[in-house]
Amino acid sequence: MSTRCPDHTELDAFMDQELPAARAGWLAKHLTDCETCRRYLSEHADFIERLRDVLSSRLPDDLRARLLEKCEQTRHESRSR
Ligand SMILES: [Zn+2]
Repeated sequence: MSTRCPDHTELDAFMDQELPAARAGWLAKHLTDCETCRRYLSEHADFIERLRDVLSSRLPDDLRARLLEKCEQTRHESRSR
């Protein structure tokens, strides 16, 4: 809850790789901290697959690994109910 959440339009733009690199980096960091936004994205069925594409071209390895791990976790949790 440290930073303000991006709106859903921006999250969608992130997934479509339409954000400027700097903003995408900020958003990726936000996603590692914010479960609310991860949950929103995890409602997309192909979310993880698309995220891999987005991340491979845009983010430093360490941030990418951390974010993917968090996202897998969130998706797993929202399915195991
Ligand atoms: Zn958020």
